[in-house]
Amino acid sequence: MAAAFAVTGRVAAATDADIVVIGAGAAGLAAARALREAGRKPIVLEARDRIGGRAFTDASLGPSYDAGAMFIHWAERNPWVQIARELDIKTAAESWGGGFRLFAEGKPMADEDRRRRREAFRQIDRRLETIDLGQRDMSIAELLGDLGPDSAPIAASGLLLSIGEESSRISARDYQRLWSGDDLIVPTGYGNLVARSGAGLDIRLNEPVSAIRWDGPLVTITARSGEIRARGCILTVPVGVLKSGSIRFTPELPAATRDALAGIHMGALTKIAFRVEGDRFGIAPGTSFLEAAAPERLMNFDMFPEGKDLVIGYCGGDYARKLSEAGTEEARTHVVDLLAQMVGGDFRKAIKAVSFPAWWTDPFARGSYSVCDPGHDGARAALAQPIGGRIVIAGEATAGGGAMTVGGATLAGREAAAALARLKA
Ligand SMILES: Cc1cc2nc3c(=O)[nH]c(=O)nc-3n(C[C@H](O)[C@H](O)[C@H](O)COP(=O)(O)OP(=O)(O)OC[C@H]3O[C@@H](n4cnc5c(N)ncnc54)[C@H](O)[C@@H]3O)c2cc1C
Repeated sequence: MAAAFAVTGRVAAATDADIVVIGAGAAGLAAARALREAGRKPIVLEARDRIGGRAFTDASLGPSYDAGAMFIHWAERNPWVQIARELDIKTAAESWGGGFRLFAEGKPMADEDRRRRREAFRQIDRRLETIDLGQRDMSIAELLGDLGPDSAPIAASGLLLSIGEESSRISARDYQRLWSGDDLIVPTGYGNLVARSGAGLDIRLNEPVSAIRWDGPLVTITARSGEIRARGCILTVPVGVLKSGSIRFTPELPAATRDALAGIHMGALTKIAFRVEGDRFGIAPGTSFLEAAAPERLMNFDMFPEGKDLVIGYCGGDYARKLSEAGTEEARTHVVDLLAQMVGGDFRKAIKAVSFPAWWTDPFARGSYSVCDPGHDGARAALAQPIGGRIVIAGEATAGGGAMTVGGATLAGREAAAALARLKA
């Protein structure tokens, strides 16, 4: 992949630069493109040996799949529809050709339970329509509180697979603000598309930034192979990385930025993918299997998506955190057991390889995407406020209604580039 980009080698000691963009995910790439179009010369520092960040098409199993972002959400206004067109890359409507099957401990779920689930799922939207959040924010758990102990956990469980977080930790106001619309997929990989958009930029890979000094007239950024002094900096590392302390700020970040960070955290949506060869056990390609016996441990499986020799499981919240912390082998054993219960014991023999992109334990992500804590729905806007006239934080976390998405990160990256230009003007 590296050959496709102007990955122009090492950071020299104490280089001077115009603007440094930290992170080559959707936000960083968009910021760098916007700066270049405005006649600037941004340098992008990326910790990993690849670009795209949490948009990553994993080909390690042979057939590829999107290990992070997969859907171009709210396609009507998502900039990636246009970018894909410009790059001559196809997008398509998602087709759930094979249908949807619900299981409880590996057995098909009873009709009555299915009906109860459907009814419970509708409750979040109903309550968001009727409860006035103008007076005060609350968690989704509180929003659902009087549904009762049988239905509330079921209603909330869908959030584990969409937001990747437990309902008690999600701000209802922030959730209500999220944009919705049609979803598209990129048959050749959303991650690949995002990576393609970095062509021609000055991107330095394997350059984790460990320190940012911003008390002088320039910003001094310490990366693996040296320091760069820049006139401005766009910082697009995930909120989880900012909160981890792995980047040292001198002086420390302003109180307003620290307060914003204290009110936002990372969810933990996680995928686990298997290459499955031979028998398909009578399962139509594109079927979804959902193991839903315990609402707090939902696991969804895309079975042979687009006819590929793949089964992709995903889960969220504390369940995903535990699996990520347990590591690939333990996660594999647990998830294969679930699949064998649903499909039959012979399924184990068909599994040839596993890939576990555990974003929660990934040091350059530390989670799937940002979630506002109840009572902190202003955190995204506060985080986007420029720091010291020369640093702007941008990414999916600062994207308002577009938060949590690649499209939102891209719009936020563009806005950060414009904000920095205004500051520097
Ligand atoms: C499992 C999963 C499923 C998802 N599904 C969807 C979906 O279907 N649709 C959708 O739109 N979104 C989805 N998302 C969310 C989407 O991937 C993100 O919102 C988006 O990619 C974030 O872009 P970003 O530029 O803000 O951050 P990132 O993509 O995380 O980019 C930040 C970059 O900073 C780098 N970095 C980190 N630390 C350092 C450091 N110290 N120094 C230098 N560089 C550093 C990282 O390596 C990374 O490349 C999903 C995410 C996950 C994890």
